Amino acid sequence: MRRRFSKREVAEFYRRLSASRPIPQTELEFINPFTLLVAVVLSAQATDIGVNKATPALFDLADTPAKMAALGEERVAQLVRTIGLYRTKARNIIALSRMLIDQHGGAVPRDREALEKLPGVGRKTASVVLNVAFGEPTIAVDTHIFRVGNRTGLAPGKTPLAVEEGLEAVTPARYKHGAHHWLILHGRYVCKARKPDCPVCAVADLCRYGAKTAPAEMIAARAEAITAEPLVEAKPRRSEKPPPQPSPAGGGGRKPALKRTLPRKRGREGPTP
Ligand code: SF4
Repeated sequence: MRRRFSKREVAEFYRRLSASRPIPQTELEFINPFTLLVAVVLSAQATDIGVNKATPALFDLADTPAKMAALGEERVAQLVRTIGLYRTKARNIIALSRMLIDQHGGAVPRDREALEKLPGVGRKTASVVLNVAFGEPTIAVDTHIFRVGNRTGLAPGKTPLAVEEGLEAVTPARYKHGAHHWLILHGRYVCKARKPDCPVCAVADLCRYGAKTAPAEMIAARAEAITAEPLVEAKPRRSEKPPPQPSPAGGGGRKPALKRTLPRKRGREGPTP
């Protein structure tokens, strides 16, 4: 059984991902909360790149629910026909536009329950909208995050909801808003489905995956270069004397020795994250 992440390891995991992408943001292009919602609906089982190719023409014509409803299902379908399942998605976009007009005054609600009642909107889409449009600390689990959560051992789970709950439980509060973006981008560009790019991975020494594509020495050298501080406090050996304690008068005692989880290796530093 794989060893679970300690709190310090989780914090270090996110510190490194955040260092590599200081401004976490979606790669979907949008203008306002409504166009974000439409883009996320279109992105189901499609790539962000593919969605971004189709949406500029659509949003030029319709960037509000009223304009979208006026455009009509057939016209929307034509504009997004390069995206998979475009007919179903066009139908849902028109239906959700009408529902936003009828029930929410034409605005996108900042409410999970209301969002999930919209046609074509499930938990994942609602989480993305809440996070990106409203700044909520939600973690939407898509195929990339599901893989990263399981492969690394950060939040293993058999279903997206189980992984989401695991991530909610372990992710430090200061990283929660960006977690969705950091994890999805890590899964998309580094921890790829077919062959993870472990040689350039910033969290390789923390990851619990048993079939990494980088040798242990390379991972250790990289960890040496990018670890913020030692992750595990050394336990004193029985034969060792305990470290000197600070004197009652406040004299300078030495701090307990710390050790790394991986062996130190002198030499050139690995590439930066
Ligand atoms: S070490 Fe490899 S498997 Fe682990 S997170 Fe990095 S890329 Fe993924």
